[in-house]
Amino acid sequence: MKRLFLFALMLILVLSVVPVHAATQTKSLKVHFIDVGQGASQLIIGSTGKTILIDAGNNSEEKTIVDYLKKQKIKKIDILIGTHPDANHVGGLDAVISNFEIGKIYMPKVVSTTKTYEDVLTAIKKKNLKVTTAKAGLTLDWEKDATVKMIAPVGTYDDANDMSAVIKLTYGSTSFLLMGDVESKSENDIIKSKENIKSDVLLIGHHGSKTSTSQKFLNAVNPKHAVIQVGKNSYGHPTSEVLKRLTDKKIKIYRNDKQGTIVFTTDGKTITTSQNEWKANATKPTATQAPKPTPKPTPKPTPKPTPKPSEKPQDNVVYANCTAVREAGKAPLYKGDAGYSTKLDRDGDGVACE
Ligand SMILES: [Zn+2]
Repeated sequence: MKRLFLFALMLILVLSVVPVHAATQTKSLKVHFIDVGQGASQLIIGSTGKTILIDAGNNSEEKTIVDYLKKQKIKKIDILIGTHPDANHVGGLDAVISNFEIGKIYMPKVVSTTKTYEDVLTAIKKKNLKVTTAKAGLTLDWEKDATVKMIAPVGTYDDANDMSAVIKLTYGSTSFLLMGDVESKSENDIIKSKENIKSDVLLIGHHGSKTSTSQKFLNAVNPKHAVIQVGKNSYGHPTSEVLKRLTDKKIKIYRNDKQGTIVFTTDGKTITTSQNEWKANATKPTATQAPKPTPKPTPKPTPKPTPKPSEKPQDNVVYANCTAVREAGKAPLYKGDAGYSTKLDRDGDGVACE
């Protein structure tokens, strides 16, 4: 009887341990907004490690992207999306295609004859890959516990920006809306399509151009966080109009140009960010902000030794005795001569080895 009781007790203990163990393996999904300067690139890593890469910045950012992906230990991009043929979106795609195993590729039907775009098509051809047309209504086959829907382009547009592929990513009760470079025309069609666009995180369209992220669209998405992928540019991105629309709604802003790469992590319920939100007037740190790391004291520059003129190599000469001085043909040595020392100048008259 006692033995049976012990067995039951052990069973209870074992059973109570199992769920605790399972709970420690919290699944999560990450969205990386990679800093590629004035361009865009988002890397999504799912709960089992499957990947989606949307855009890859300019040609000049190829190495940035490839190195970033390698650092994340990524071997395969399961879904590669070129939102539209602009150079600062598809520029790095050819390098990604050549360096990694690629699953499916999506790009909108836009004719472009730029060298950058041709390079992407060549890289695709070289690997015998096929391009699937990006358009609204597609549900992409990816992680079982996430939903990836393409909600634009809804129609066809003359403006290549409006042809941008737009992705709505849902994980548990959290969601992301990634806009490419769509302008208000496509935004209006997305609203009309009746797709559920409410999202926690919004990647602001077209780097914060005032012709995107209309008030109507922003109200429909109603995000808590907004990411602006922007770098040094002559277009005035992000525009004060868009920044005002965001701050008026108390949406937290994250910017690549001010904060570098920003990573969002979600467990399906809660979203955490790799950095605090960006604030326009961040001079007075608020209590919620992490204390700024104390800047490292600038090390005092070590005074560079003045290089000795090469024509005077004898400056360092030390003679052991006067015999050595005579052998060198330098006797006598006057005070100030190379090799003169008081040791050699026994009588201290300023002339050694007379
Ligand atoms: Zn762009």
